[in-house]
Amino acid sequence: MLNLLKHPLLTHKLAILRRKNTATKEFRETLKEIAGLMAYEITRDLPVRDITIETPLGLCNTQELAVEIVLVPVLRAGLGMVDGISDLIPNARIGHIGIYRDHATLKPMTYYSKFPENISESIVMVLDPMLATGGSSSDAIKILKEQGARSIKLVCIVGAPEGIERITREHPDVQIYIAGLDEKLNNNGYIVPGLGDAGDRLFGTK
Ligand code: URA
Repeated sequence: MLNLLKHPLLTHKLAILRRKNTATKEFRETLKEIAGLMAYEITRDLPVRDITIETPLGLCNTQELAVEIVLVPVLRAGLGMVDGISDLIPNARIGHIGIYRDHATLKPMTYYSKFPENISESIVMVLDPMLATGGSSSDAIKILKEQGARSIKLVCIVGAPEGIERITREHPDVQIYIAGLDEKLNNNGYIVPGLGDAGDRLFGTK
């Protein structure tokens, strides 16, 4: 299911990411801020449990989070979203996944993966800024499900209709969150108007 997050700050910061003249430092900082703002919205429905704590003045009946969170950035652009979310959820554990498509077989090949042990009991947030064809996100979700993940949220920054359709079809149980819904993909699989290659802009590799 698609959740298009709307907030003036998100729109403003997304315009900074989209602008072609935004330099690496500002791009990186803004991507982090957007991820944090999105996390605030995405975590609205997290389960909480009742607790009693002691304040300096007495007892207080309150609540705390009742679920563990695992963040899984899809390498490499997903790395740019980790700090913004883990600043808000410092107890979140962090896994990593790197995937490429074998050109001959077109099968997804995992070149790196490492997940915390508790993913079957946790809410797993897959971080992949550009939901273009949906291939890497879908493959990452499939691998996480094979590892036991049962509650998965896909957190992207910009989405194209093609990618949203694919995730919805292949993983109807996964909640998709985006801050911008764009028009289409070009012939090279880039989102238009999009923001270019998120990994290159994040790490200054082009
Ligand atoms: N990956 C990117 O970094 N940008 C796109 O537009 C599509 C995929």
